[in-house]
Amino acid sequence: MRKKLIAGNWKSNGSLERNADLLDSIVGAKALGSVDVVVCPPFPYLPSVGDAVSGSKVELGAQNCSATEEGAYTGEVSARMCADVKCSWVILGHSERRALFAESDDVIACKVKRAIDSGLKPILCIGETLEERESGRAEEVALKQLDAVFLSVQPDESWVVAYEPVWAIGTGKTASPNDAQSMHKALRDNIRKHFPQIADKIRILYGGSVKSSNAKELFSMPDVDGALVGGASLVSEEFVSIIEAAVE
Ligand code: PEP
Repeated sequence: MRKKLIAGNWKSNGSLERNADLLDSIVGAKALGSVDVVVCPPFPYLPSVGDAVSGSKVELGAQNCSATEEGAYTGEVSARMCADVKCSWVILGHSERRALFAESDDVIACKVKRAIDSGLKPILCIGETLEERESGRAEEVALKQLDAVFLSVQPDESWVVAYEPVWAIGTGKTASPNDAQSMHKALRDNIRKHFPQIADKIRILYGGSVKSSNAKELFSMPDVDGALVGGASLVSEEFVSIIEAAVE
């Protein structure tokens, strides 16, 4: 059985004061232990958030890392640096990075490689736009994004895939539990085709306007192994309720 995982993507939000308030509730959540929980603050807050969660079951993740080695790359943050400040995870391929920062599948595969070489576990985001869904190409697009990474960097069962339909991110629209399940199953079947030994072990999260009111129903689907949460991860009662909804 796959343990559910709830990851909070804080995006470019937070302050030392707001982070401390938020973390107080998260580290006190009763469901920690039965559910894996990861918080992914902006880079400058990684050390202080790492200190706040140390000794608890909450893990630390970065929201991105560089595709380059360390060196003369002004503004870049390497995977090794993230690992150095105690990150265990890194979100890669988020649709905002793909759309706003022109990250291609090749760049994302390169980042995944750097991440695993530094001991980080990737949370690989994939998902179709509204136009792609409406033209009946949702699965084709998501599978292509998955294969672009999985077939160039050998995955293992510690990796996490986050299916995040772009039209559901930050919009208040959520994929129906059945639509999410059907995509997650297609992704798992595709993983099984190439890597049968990990297909039933790898976790596939759903992301896109997950909140306390829709979490339980999404988590009741057999191939939905948790959530990558944006907006609702910034509201402590919401995030803690989502974590509780993931308890089996
Ligand atoms: C996200 O950015 O990964 C996300 C899922 O955002 P939201 O929950 O706000 O839709």
